[in-house]
Amino acid sequence: MVSDTSCVACGQSRGFVYTGPVYSQGELVDSLCPWCIADGSAAEKYDAEFTDVGWGVPADVPPAVVMQVATRTPGFSGWQQEHWLYHCGDAAAFLGRVGWAELLSHPDAVESLRQEHGADARPAEEVDEHLTALDKEGEATAYLFRCRHCGRQLAYSDSA
Ligand SMILES: [Zn+2]
Ligand SMILES: [Zn+2]
Repeated sequence: MVSDTSCVACGQSRGFVYTGPVYSQGELVDSLCPWCIADGSAAEKYDAEFTDVGWGVPADVPPAVVMQVATRTPGFSGWQQEHWLYHCGDAAAFLGRVGWAELLSHPDAVESLRQEHGADARPAEEVDEHLTALDKEGEATAYLFRCRHCGRQLAYSDSA
C-alpha cells in the first residue's frame, strides 16, 4: 500500500508499507516496508513470519523453501487463516484474489479448486454452485497462484 509511514525495521519512509498479516510477538501491523520483508531483515529482527506455513505444505517441498515463504515473502489477508500453495516441489507465486469471472480464463486453477472440494465428496452441482459464486470482492473468493516451474495456475477458495 502507498504510504509515507516509516518502516520500524529500517527507519526509512520508502513510500510503501506492507499491510498483510504479521505473526510475531510485537505489534507490527502496517509498519514494515516490503524491502525489509524481502531481504529477511524484518523476520530476523522481530522473529516474524508473514504466512502461516504450519500446514498444507507438500512433502516434496524443502524446508528452506517453506522458510522463504514464511520469512521473506509478503503474505496476504484472507477471511480464514491464509495458506500458501506449492507445485513442482517449490512455492508458487501468489497472483492475487480472484472470482469466477477471472477464473474462467484459468482452467488449471478451476481444476485445482474442484480437487479441493472433491476431497469433501460433495456433489458436482454443489461444487459448481460454490465455484460460480466466487467473487473477487465478495465474501466467497479464491486466491490465485502460479507455479514458477511449469506455469500451472493453482487456487484455493475461502469465505467469510
Ligand atoms: Zn524497512
Ligand atoms: Zn509446477
